[in-house]
Amino acid sequence: MKKITLGIVSAIVLGLFFTGCTEEKKEEKVQVAEKKTYTIKLAMTWPSNFPVFGDAVINFKNMAESMSDGRLTVRIDSKNKHKSPFGIFDMVKAGQYQMGHSASYYWKGKVPNTLYFTTMPFGMTASEQFAWFYYDDGMKLMDKVYAPHNLYSFPGGNTGNQMGGWFQKEINSLDDLKGLKMRIPGFAGEVVSKLGVNVTNIAPGELYTALDRGTIDALEWVGPSLDLRMGFHKVAPYYYTGWHEPATELQFLINRKFMDKLPADLQEIIKVAMKTASYDMLTQTNHESGKNWATMKKEFPNIQVKTFPESVMTAIKKANDDLLVEKAAKDPLAKEILDSQANYIKQIRPWTLLSDYSYLKSLEEK
Ligand code: CA
Repeated sequence: MKKITLGIVSAIVLGLFFTGCTEEKKEEKVQVAEKKTYTIKLAMTWPSNFPVFGDAVINFKNMAESMSDGRLTVRIDSKNKHKSPFGIFDMVKAGQYQMGHSASYYWKGKVPNTLYFTTMPFGMTASEQFAWFYYDDGMKLMDKVYAPHNLYSFPGGNTGNQMGGWFQKEINSLDDLKGLKMRIPGFAGEVVSKLGVNVTNIAPGELYTALDRGTIDALEWVGPSLDLRMGFHKVAPYYYTGWHEPATELQFLINRKFMDKLPADLQEIIKVAMKTASYDMLTQTNHESGKNWATMKKEFPNIQVKTFPESVMTAIKKANDDLLVEKAAKDPLAKEILDSQANYIKQIRPWTLLSDYSYLKSLEEK
């Protein structure tokens, strides 16, 4: 009897002991899982120490690493390292890099429908476009374009409204556009080439010399935030207001297989960090543009700010509309995206006009 009791007691004690071990092991396992670290290699289109665009990537990295308490490490490679500024799409798709930072319209030669997610001439302003992405169909449509390529694409930082560019000569009529040699990429380049502009593509590092020596007659870059350091105001007197890139949104690309395998909380941290970095770049661009525009005007008081004459704007708008019709007719998904953007502008623009536009107009000096 004593033996049996002892046996039972021993069994219970041993049982408790082993149960305890299992619980501890489980806890240990959970801790190990929580502490599992992931390294994200991120390739960006921009060179090292590139202000604003590069800052958005560094902001993302800092937020993702600190919010994840070190479980995420982001290693950024600039174009100086990977040597393939326009190869980001392929490198992230293939998993050579887990993430990328670039601009969606750079892939238009590869996947034409990516063009519509950076900015469109005569399209949405930055605040309208963020609303389209996050509260209307923007994200859903962008995913429809990128999912077949094993990629997620997210907004990656907005430049706000870009300037129409620096011109050596004043543009007074449509004739002044004919044969004009200009660096103007993307959809806008296709539009003005319909009007006789000789569109050229020159590496950013050679733009200043090209404009100074007359290899090109005009160029567009971004706006004061990034134009000041390029020095264009020193070699071209006319600075035109913009029509062609009203809300240029950069992009974060993520390898889909990599993202889907991450624990849910880390996925959420990455999304929050990207979104915050993207909004922050718009804020920083505004700040830098205001500051740099004051510097430019002070150093070069003869900069002449111009707006293209009405006859030129009407022709550009018509060429743009014709091109949109052509693109939509060729591809049902392009049509779906373009219809979504047009419908969203119809819905939101009256409010933009009633609010910000009316406010600023009421302040205009009479
Ligand atoms: Ca531009």
